[in-house]
Amino acid sequence: MTLSQFCDAVAAVGKAHGGSVTSWGRSPQHSIRVGGFVGDPHTWWLGVDMVYDTGANRPEADQMAHSLGLKVLHEKGHDHYQPADFPAGPVTKYP
Ligand SMILES: [Zn+2]
Repeated sequence: MTLSQFCDAVAAVGKAHGGSVTSWGRSPQHSIRVGGFVGDPHTWWLGVDMVYDTGANRPEADQMAHSLGLKVLHEKGHDHYQPADFPAGPVTKYP
């Protein structure tokens, strides 16, 4: 999934579900500071955290997100989106 495809997919989900992005791209230093790690999806600008007008998590958006190639993690305080094929752990090469 390209950065452009990811942006289009996340925007579509957010617009359809009353979402607001609270975090997107991060420098490696900032990612570490907020509990992430070097090579995580946010440092690739392929990770987005979103909240909704209805609350912090929205499982109702999962089906749409999956159909657009996204993986969703329902985390405390927000939903995290990333490409479904983004590898786990520190990533040095993608795709
Ligand atoms: Zn996140």
